[in-house]
Amino acid sequence: MTKKNINITTEELKKLNEQLSSLTAKELLAWFVARYPGKTIFSSSMGLEDQVITDLLASLSNPVPVFTLDTGRMFPETYDLIDITRQRYNIVIEVWFPDGGQVRRMVGEHGINLFYSSQENRKLCCHIRKTEPLRQALSGYSVWITGLRREQSAARQDLELVSFDPEFNILKVNPLLNWSTAEVWEYIRLNRVPYNTLHDQGYPSIGCQPCTRAVMEGEDIRAGRWWWEESGKKECGLHDPLKAKQKSS
Ligand code: SF4
Repeated sequence: MTKKNINITTEELKKLNEQLSSLTAKELLAWFVARYPGKTIFSSSMGLEDQVITDLLASLSNPVPVFTLDTGRMFPETYDLIDITRQRYNIVIEVWFPDGGQVRRMVGEHGINLFYSSQENRKLCCHIRKTEPLRQALSGYSVWITGLRREQSAARQDLELVSFDPEFNILKVNPLLNWSTAEVWEYIRLNRVPYNTLHDQGYPSIGCQPCTRAVMEGEDIRAGRWWWEESGKKECGLHDPLKAKQKSS
């Protein structure tokens, strides 16, 4: 049985969003860290937005644990960035791995590149390599900081600054929710924040190597993720607004 980490009503959540709407990203982070000391955690995919958040968190007086998920299918550039970031900010980045037995059984049954054969198989792979390790990493925490932005995709348009995630029983906070891509880049450049070199090679959104391709000028930011699937269904289960809506309705 999943342990409930936090209790909040829809009305309380609405008021919280109104109360916090005028805060800057850094102020918002500081607010949650002060309100939920030791219960706030940040998941970094090592993407551009997450690097901004790592930089913002480094400027706060209270440290926040940072973790990332190693699916076993990442780009070499992403592994390099994990180490570069760890050294730059002198922080621990906890790396969570999928369960070896589950991966072995999945690959034995469906093949190593199962994600190309059906959406069902792709979701199975994301579930085993991402969702289950994420569930373990978030266990015991009340607040989950993410780098989601509305501009990233049509599916993320309805996101809130703060929401309750019923899948993981946790408050989800998106401090960069309303930032534009230009604002993210401006922050990165002004503050010399390390970032994945693939961003300079046409990869605005970077996930696992076999499931990410470069995008062309004018294409959607996330067009290169699971490019062979129908757009609008391309969330991996970590941040699935449709699932959250279905569960809460
Ligand atoms: S993004 Fe691709 S390789 Fe990574 S977990 Fe999902 S299906 Fe598997």
